[in-house]
Amino acid sequence: MAGGDGQDCVFCAIVRRRAPAYIIYEDEDAMAFLDIYPFTRGHALVVPKQHGARLTDLPFESQVALLRALDRVCRRSERLADDYNVALNAGANAGQIVFHVHFHVIPRYGEANPFHPNRRNRLGETDARELVGLLSAP
Ligand code: AMP
Ligand code: ZN
Repeated sequence: MAGGDGQDCVFCAIVRRRAPAYIIYEDEDAMAFLDIYPFTRGHALVVPKQHGARLTDLPFESQVALLRALDRVCRRSERLADDYNVALNAGANAGQIVFHVHFHVIPRYGEANPFHPNRRNRLGETDARELVGLLSAP
C-alpha cells in the first residue's frame, strides 16, 4: 500500500485510536507503541501518523519528525537496557509485513544471538501495562 491513504492499514487504525495498542509515546507527527509479538521485553515500534509504506514515501520533514520521536523512544528504551537495536524493514524481501513505515526499537539484554531470535510470544497484558508505566513517562 505504498503511499496510499492508509485505509485497511493496522498502524493507521492504531494512530486513529480505532485499534488497540499499548501506546508509550505520542507527539503531533508520530506515535510509538509496544510490538504485540516482541523480540524482547519492551520491543517498541515508532510510526509516523501520516501513512506511507516506507521512509522514502514520506516528505523529508516527516522523516525528520519521525527521527525526533525515535530519539525519544531510544532514550526511554535505555530505562530497560543500555543496549538496543533500531531496525527498519523496507519491502517484503526485507521482511516488512506491515506496510506503514516503522522503526523497531529492540532492547538487548545479552541474548547470545540477537539476529536469530527464539519463538516470539504474544505480549501479555500484565507485562504490557508495566512496560507502559515505565516507558510512557517523559
Ligand atoms: P515488520 O516486519 O517490520 O513489518 O514488522 C511489523 C511488526 O508489527 C511485527 O513485529 C509485528 O509483531 C508488529 N505488529 C503487527 N500488528 C501489530 C499490532 N496490531 N500492534 C502491535 N504490533 C503489531
Ligand atoms: Zn498506515
